[in-house]
Amino acid sequence: MKSITKAQIDNLIKLQKIEMQVGRINSILNDLPERLGTLDTRLKAFESTIKEKEADACELKQNYRSKESDLQMNMTRIEKSQENLRAVKTNKEYRLLLKEIETIKRRNSQIEDEILQFLDRMDEEEKNISARTAEYLQIKEQITAEKDEIKQEAELEKKKLVAFDEELNTIYAKIDAGLLKKYNLIRDRVAGAAVEPAKHGVCQGCHMNIPSQMYSKLQASKGLMLCPHCQRIIYWEEEEKVKEEE
Ligand SMILES: [Zn+2]
Repeated sequence: MKSITKAQIDNLIKLQKIEMQVGRINSILNDLPERLGTLDTRLKAFESTIKEKEADACELKQNYRSKESDLQMNMTRIEKSQENLRAVKTNKEYRLLLKEIETIKRRNSQIEDEILQFLDRMDEEEKNISARTAEYLQIKEQITAEKDEIKQEAELEKKKLVAFDEELNTIYAKIDAGLLKKYNLIRDRVAGAAVEPAKHGVCQGCHMNIPSQMYSKLQASKGLMLCPHCQRIIYWEEEEKVKEEE
């Protein structure tokens, strides 16, 4: 690689930093619909469990009403039979009617027990639904706030993206075309940082030792080289400077 000025190295590093920021922002923006969708799904799932409970409660109420009407019907039957008692002519008829009245009364007492059970269950179900509804409203509020936050965050990132795009264009213009081409090739191949510093004789991209002769050359030229192991662009970073950063 032909000799490269410190300014070129700095531009390349700057370019790489911005491209990574752009990549980060693009991945945030790409994930956005899924993140919002997940929140909506959570809310909808909660909504449908409440709807199911409401449907159960409705069925319970219908059953309760039908028991009530059975009870009412039986009472009417008892009244009628009691009226008939006065008109009977034989003992046999009288006993039969009494027996019938007894049977209906026993059935009614069963129905009354069932009605009490329904009332208990309805009461329980109602409490359950109102607790779940309160919980739902709380979660809905939370999710709405979370969605707003995500959308606001995305707006901020989009603004940053516009600024980064402008910066990138400025930097592209400053970098030697051949170097930029090489950088692009390496970046696409390694799918990550194409430019890495070499510190203490080690390439920071692949963490392999750079042959000492090559490392001395890199230090002396203060330019760019390709790592013999990973083929990333490497530059020498002064040890003092490294210590400051650590
Ligand atoms: Zn390397």
